[in-house]
Amino acid sequence: MLSVERLNSYHGPIKALHDVSLRVEDKGATAVLGPNGAGKSTLLHSISGLLRPGSGSISYNGQQISGLPPHRIVRLGIVQVPEGRRIFTQMTVHENLLIGAFTRGRNDISEDIDLVFSLFPALAEKRSRLGGELSGGQQQMLAIGRGLMAKPSLLLLDEPSLGLSPLLVEQLGEAITSIRERFSMAILLVEQNAGLALEMTSHVYVMQTGRVVLDAASDVISVDDIRRAYLGQLQSTPR
Ligand code: ATP
Repeated sequence: MLSVERLNSYHGPIKALHDVSLRVEDKGATAVLGPNGAGKSTLLHSISGLLRPGSGSISYNGQQISGLPPHRIVRLGIVQVPEGRRIFTQMTVHENLLIGAFTRGRNDISEDIDLVFSLFPALAEKRSRLGGELSGGQQQMLAIGRGLMAKPSLLLLDEPSLGLSPLLVEQLGEAITSIRERFSMAILLVEQNAGLALEMTSHVYVMQTGRVVLDAASDVISVDDIRRAYLGQLQSTPR
């Protein structure tokens, strides 16, 4: 459903992605792992239209989307939950969720807000509080809830576990998996937590300095394999 082929992206003169190819199956779960600066966020921004790729192709359900503006990509069902949460801290939880529904019609919005509250009960209790008053874990839940309000068919998640306690990471992983099944949508998860990524997805890609260095099914590799790929000691040929 999402197919990235030989993608090259730049930040000014800096080449951040080198011939990156990757796939996310319909309703599938795929992870991209790699150390800081590997190019994971650049990849997500290239897919969501925040960054215009230099060359290569990105197709979604057969349609070429590379270079389209972000609002058109959102309308096609691809929604990014950014790193660092980026919720609106001066708006209430309820208002943050309403903003997530901005690109769709007015249909069923209150039902979907209730659905997000049923998925994340901690948010329901705080619906009238400002986003900035929430804990880190709650802000992450709000960012995901806001993404869900756009009714995505593919959710791009940028390091959702960043800064969360191990218990919250576990809860978040379970919540995302149940959301994916319930909404029958696909996810592309960018993570540094290899254990979490292997648990939540069926395919992982490891990136290193802008290149895919490992491409494997999650059930045939271990956290140790991923560690070795980080260190440049394990490689596979990208598909
Ligand atoms: P992190 O986990 O730290 O966000 P990442 O794997 O997401 O890392 P990117 O943020 O995609 O990596 O960065 C890839 C490369 O592009 C790095 O060399 C980084 O310094 C560079 N880069 C990223 N954003 C910019 C920018 N806005 N301007 C210039 N260079 C950038």
